[in-house]
Amino acid sequence: MSMRILVTGGAGFLGSYLCELLLDQGHEVLCVDNLFTGRRANIAHLLDNKSFEFMRHDICFPLYVEVDQIYNLACPASPIHYQFDPVQTTKASVIGAINMLGLAKRLRVKVLQASTSEIYGNPSVHPQPESYWGNVNTIGPRACYDEGKRCAETLFFDYHRQHNLAIKVVRIFNTYGPRMHPQDGRVVSNFIVQALQNQDITIYGDGSQTRSFCYRDDLVDGFVRMMATGDDFVGPVNIGNPTEFSILELAQNVIELTGSKSQLIYHPLPQDDPLQRKPVIDLAREKLGWAPKVALRDGLVKTIEYFDTLLKSDAYKAS
Ligand code: NAD
Ligand code: UDP
Ligand code: UDP
Repeated sequence: MSMRILVTGGAGFLGSYLCELLLDQGHEVLCVDNLFTGRRANIAHLLDNKSFEFMRHDICFPLYVEVDQIYNLACPASPIHYQFDPVQTTKASVIGAINMLGLAKRLRVKVLQASTSEIYGNPSVHPQPESYWGNVNTIGPRACYDEGKRCAETLFFDYHRQHNLAIKVVRIFNTYGPRMHPQDGRVVSNFIVQALQNQDITIYGDGSQTRSFCYRDDLVDGFVRMMATGDDFVGPVNIGNPTEFSILELAQNVIELTGSKSQLIYHPLPQDDPLQRKPVIDLAREKLGWAPKVALRDGLVKTIEYFDTLLKSDAYKAS
């Protein structure tokens, strides 16, 4: 059945791919984004599609539209961006969630929240199952994002219990792929852009900290599967790739795959940077029939191709 679906944060890295996938499935898409970290270029190829509509809007303000389903992705996601204006980051998560929940409540439609593995903070349980409550510094520089997302989860569950709203909460682990912002500051985009330009690769700390990297297409497939589950399953559910790599291993893979002459240089580890992160995905396997399909090296090859084309483009050189 074709629906009209709202995607907030739809001009971002993950949101733009989600819009594309939903259009391919025959839905109409309303993409709402304030273009803080999102880019028009991410959705330029969709603008001619009659089923696609873009609205520039900040979800910290009420939004009165008519839709059949909501994916709430609007929030800066990379540490340099979410720490640039931390008050705005908490507002985007908390006030944004209230507005999207209010909208969903008025329309009586299903709403999915893009939560994050950051709600686990610097985890003392490894790997992280959904039952782990996390270890977050409430007053540190990452708290605007982590606590904002934690509060959004609380709001989602309270609207569910108090107003019987159909909710879905997914906890996303580090995801990478084409359409990441080249100056996004996240590790995969930084390393690839540095390697392609034969610049030094910036390792924060000694590079022994770990992350588990999920390819974009796998992740967004998980979103759509979660949305399709029955109302009795609300999550939270981890969506991520459980294959864990150290940051040094990631750098070595990127250097090898790009054939770069880059050297490694070491910077201090940022405050509160989690030392390890790896999802337990048993729940996603059981409830969504989902598991990631794309191995890191295969996903890196596609992402490297994307950045290589982007860095050589006239539009990028002129920017
Ligand atoms: P992104 O920065 O590319 O996308 C976020 C989008 O939200 C951008 O287009 C931005 O302009 C928009 N936005 C920000 N604040 C807004 C506001 N107040 N109103 C309207 N639009 C706003 O990042 P992404 O990686 O695509 O992340 C999408 C979602 O997934 C975010 O909620 C993020 O927290 C979550 N997430 C991502 C990852 C990851 O590894 N990519 C991991 C965990 C969670
Ligand atoms: N809201 C919105 N669009 C709607 C309905 C509500 O943006 O279609 C916002 C509205 O601004 C409100 C928030 O969602 O502040 C929460 O709505 P809810 O009905 O839960 O709360 P109330 O209006 O009772 O404060
Ligand atoms: N990192 C790094 N060099 C960079 C960017 C990030 O070593 O140029 C490290 C960062 O300190 C963290 C890991 O890579 O340990 C993942 O960082 P990212 O910002 O991508 O995601 P998050 O910390 O939110 O998981």
